[in-house]
Amino acid sequence: MYKAFLIKYAEIGIKGKNRFIFENILKRNIETALLKLREGYTISKEQGRVFIECPDGFDYDDTVEALQHVFGVSGICPVYVIDDIDFESLKKGVGDYVEQAYPDKNFTFKVEARRANKQYPVQSPEICAKTGAHLLDRFPEMKVDVHNPDVEFMVEVRNRGYVYSQVIPGPNGMPVGTGGKAMLLLSGGIDSPVAGWMIAKRGVTIDAVYFHAPPYTSERAKQKVVDLAKIISKYTGPIRLHIVNFTDIQLYIYETCPHEELTIIMRRYMMRIAEEIANSRGCQALITGESIGQVASQTVESLLTTNAVCKLPVFRPLIAFDKNDIVDISQKIGAFETSILPYEDCCTIFVAKHPVTKPVLSVIERSEKKLAEKIDDLVKQALDTVEIVNVKP
Ligand code: ATP
Ligand code: MG
Repeated sequence: MYKAFLIKYAEIGIKGKNRFIFENILKRNIETALLKLREGYTISKEQGRVFIECPDGFDYDDTVEALQHVFGVSGICPVYVIDDIDFESLKKGVGDYVEQAYPDKNFTFKVEARRANKQYPVQSPEICAKTGAHLLDRFPEMKVDVHNPDVEFMVEVRNRGYVYSQVIPGPNGMPVGTGGKAMLLLSGGIDSPVAGWMIAKRGVTIDAVYFHAPPYTSERAKQKVVDLAKIISKYTGPIRLHIVNFTDIQLYIYETCPHEELTIIMRRYMMRIAEEIANSRGCQALITGESIGQVASQTVESLLTTNAVCKLPVFRPLIAFDKNDIVDISQKIGAFETSILPYEDCCTIFVAKHPVTKPVLSVIERSEKKLAEKIDDLVKQALDTVEIVNVKP
C-alpha cells in the first residue's frame, strides 16, 4: 500500500545557513543506500524533509532497512499516495488509507494538514476539519482527540496527496560526509567497530587501519577485521582499510624492551604508524575503542603514555562506557557475532604476565631509545608495504 517515504531529520534541521549542505549530503547518502537495492527511486528535498518515491516492484522491508542505516535520518514515514487531489478524492483517499492501514478502528485520532502546494484551493485548517469529518462519517468507531490522539494522520498536498501516520525510528546522528575524516584503529575485537560506528554517526568519514602480525595472527583474524569493516560500512559507507604488517616491529620490541612494557610500547608504535597513514590520507583525527580501566593498557596512566606520541586528536568515544553497554551497541549494529569469533589479534600473542599498569612516560621513552638502531627502518618498511582493501557494504 505504500509507494513513498517521507524522511525526517532532527539535528541537521538546526544548522542555520549551512543547512542546505547537510541536506544535500543526506540526500546523496540516501540515494547511495537505495541505489544498492535497485534503480528508480526518486529523491527530492523540500521544506525540511526528504521525500522518496519508490519504483514499481520495490521491496518495502529492504527499503526501510536501508534507510535505517543512513545517519541523519531520524524518522522514516511510509506514505500512502493519493493521485487525484480533487478535494473529494483527497478525503476519500485518506479514508482508503485508514481502511487498509488500521483494520481495528477503535482509536482516537487527529488530522494534521500541510499545504505544500500553495495553489491548492482548500486551506490547511479546512483540510483537517473536513477530512476528519469524512473519517468520522465513514468509520463511526473512531473518535477525535486533538490533544492526545492515539493516531495522528498527516495529510500533505503537493502535486499529489500524501498521507502517513507512522514514524519508524531512524538511526539519528549526522549524515556521513558532513564532519571531516578520521582514521579508525580497527582490531578484531568488540570495541573498535563500535567506536568507529559512533564517530561516523556524528557525520565523520572513516578510514581504517589494522595491524596484522603474521604468522602470529592468522589470515582468518585478518578476514575477521575485513568482515567487521564491511559490517560497519553499511552505516559509514565505503571504508579504505589499511593493513599494516606489524610482525617485525613487534618482534624487535619483544627482543629489545622489558616484557612488562611490551604492550604499551607496541601501542605507541601503532599510534605513530596510524597517525602517519592518517596524515597521508587527510584524516584529522584517530579513533580507538579504548575505555578506562578495561585492560592494563587502558589505565589513565597508560592512555597518557600512548597518547603522548600523537599530534592528532584521538577520539575515544567508549572512554566512559561499561563493557555491557558496548556489547549492546555491538549487537544492535550487527557486529557482535563476528567480533566474538575466537581468532587472536596481535596484542594477545605478546602479552606479558604482569604488564605495567602505571607506566611512566620517561621510563617508556628510555626503553624505546634501545630501539634506535632498527626501528625507523622497520616503521618505514611497514608503511611501504601497507596492503589496502577497499571495503564496501
Ligand atoms: P577491541 O575490542 O577494539 O579490540 P580491546 O579491548 O581488545 O579493544 P586493546 O587490545 O587494548 O583493547 O586495544 C585498544 C584499541 O587499540 C582498540 O580498540 C583498537 O582501536 C586499537 N587496536 C588494538 N589492536 C589493534 C590492531 N591489531 N589493529 C588496529 N587497532 C588495534
Ligand atoms: Mg582487541
